[in-house]
Amino acid sequence: MAVAMNNSDKYCAGCGTRLVVRDHEGRNLPVCPTCGRVVYYDPKLAAACVIERDGQTLMVRRAVQTGYGLWSMPGGYVDRGEPVETAAAREVVEETGLLVQVQELIGLFSDAGNPVVVAAYSATEVGGVLAPGPESLDVGFFPIDGLPPLAFPRDEQIIRRWQRIRDHQP
Ligand SMILES: [Zn+2]
Repeated sequence: MAVAMNNSDKYCAGCGTRLVVRDHEGRNLPVCPTCGRVVYYDPKLAAACVIERDGQTLMVRRAVQTGYGLWSMPGGYVDRGEPVETAAAREVVEETGLLVQVQELIGLFSDAGNPVVVAAYSATEVGGVLAPGPESLDVGFFPIDGLPPLAFPRDEQIIRRWQRIRDHQP
């Protein structure tokens, strides 16, 4: 298996020696040649919401570097110690102005080589006013068969699975 995660650590946190990438129990990982410390990179958890209004789903046009100008479902990183559902709802209000109640887990979505794992939920509007937040260029509802250009192809997979769950298909 290749080193897929971003190996940003150059030096051992324990002794300061420059790390080397080597095979460790079948995986290529940064290892300290002096003290033997192995650096393990955890996945990064993100939460996202599918929010339906009149048969359309809420999308955000991104004003941040990854996928700038492209669209994604509202969502973002979960803080350590924060309930995942709380993070999902927080990201929605930050990015779209809408207050939502998080409903069911649609699924966990992960890809080989991608450090980000997305927990996708369905959510329903309970208040707020639709308006782009500071990290959004625009917000809007789109039909599932007419989604705008996506920043993350995974979003389409999430929406399809949500649609199957909603329609009670296997
Ligand atoms: Zn060391």
